[in-house]
Amino acid sequence: MQENIKNRFVDPSVPDEMASTIRPRALADFIGHDALKQNLSVFISAARARGEPMDHVLLYGPPGLGKTTLAHIVANELGANFRATSAPMLTKQGDLAAILTALEPMDVLFIDEIHRLPTAIEEVLYSAMEDFKLDIMLGEGPSAKSVRIDLPPFTLVGATTRTGLLSNPLRDRFGIDLRLSFYSPSDLAKIIRRSAGILGTSIDEDGALALAKSSRGTPRIANRLLKRARDFASAAGRDSIDANTIKTTLFQLHIDDSGLDQVDREYINAIIKHYAGGPVGIDNLAAALSEPADTIEDVIEPYLMQLGLIQRTPRGRVVTEAGYRHMGLEK
Ligand code: ADP
Repeated sequence: MQENIKNRFVDPSVPDEMASTIRPRALADFIGHDALKQNLSVFISAARARGEPMDHVLLYGPPGLGKTTLAHIVANELGANFRATSAPMLTKQGDLAAILTALEPMDVLFIDEIHRLPTAIEEVLYSAMEDFKLDIMLGEGPSAKSVRIDLPPFTLVGATTRTGLLSNPLRDRFGIDLRLSFYSPSDLAKIIRRSAGILGTSIDEDGALALAKSSRGTPRIANRLLKRARDFASAAGRDSIDANTIKTTLFQLHIDDSGLDQVDREYINAIIKHYAGGPVGIDNLAAALSEPADTIEDVIEPYLMQLGLIQRTPRGRVVTEAGYRHMGLEK
């Protein structure tokens, strides 16, 4: 079943095909999240005017909402180089030290899944972020000594799906905290129409809105469904996509009008059938579904909670009345 979730069509944590073509490069092309963009644009202009690196940025939100995209945009708008890594790739202090010492002044360093940094590596980041200094131990045993190396000024952009897992000392070192929430259907429809143009196809307004409503508030899923809709349109001999093509696409991929797929329905069903609608603890649920608990928490639950179909309570997960109704049942 772990395989199963990775192959899920609507899994926003699986990387995209053609991501670099569709990804917006400027703040003006980043659709939605207007307040966040306005603030970010002020911080970028101020840093540029002062000729200083921008304060470190923490981006928070479920997968597929634009964290990597925004990190690229920050670098572009600052006129800085973009360097990227991901916490699971950093297994020892030396891995991070190698990246930090290779930075050039004003670079933007992106660390994805920053909540997964081991503590020993996280501690290296503290002085790097605060004073642009690297404290490392050279050698081993009695002859080991600690050295302090100057680093060029840089901006760290950290992305996380879970702020709750971030330690306080790390969180406190970010001057700018940006939270990405799920997109409205109308913003997603704009993203879909923009992507359609880049992919050399077209989609009418009704089609874009229907697709948007089934995209779990997530641009990555919207773009992925758009590509499949384009396939179904060409199979039917059409160059453009309309609401009917979307209907066929969603039906063929077993995605319902709210964007739920079979895995979501199995999740709700498991709570209703095996735990009388809940509350049930995450570990029991993970065992019942044979899915890792963090996949359930990161990928499945945020959107179901957003729709009000489930609730996370201190005693466990509960299916709401709306959740029962969604499954054609009564609570
Ligand atoms: P994350 O890093 O949060 O998992 P990404 O930045 O990789 O998400 O975004 C996933 C895809 O969705 C990108 O390839 C990009 O094309 C698209 N996307 C995300 N946010 C937006 C947006 N606000 N406007 C347009 N496209 C977006």
